[in-house]
Amino acid sequence: MLMKYDDYLLKILKDECPFCDVKKEYVIEKSRYFMVVLARAPYIKDHILIVPNRHLVRLSEITPKEWWDLVLMIEKWMRKM
Ligand SMILES: [Zn+2]
Repeated sequence: MLMKYDDYLLKILKDECPFCDVKKEYVIEKSRYFMVVLARAPYIKDHILIVPNRHLVRLSEITPKEWWDLVLMIEKWMRKM
């Protein structure tokens, strides 16, 4: 039986999460709440990931302070790319 993607996400534990186990050499910037990571299998040129410093399953878990930090990070790296 197929597992719903949503259920799968909830099942991923922090110690199994690939985004909680990012190698330091891939991190190109770190803010209080997020890090900018080089994509290991880039789909396009300049493919980066903005990953939360704490384990999150859904965007709805982000606090207002984290949202603000994320928006600034996105804006900064969109300008750089
Ligand atoms: Zn995680």
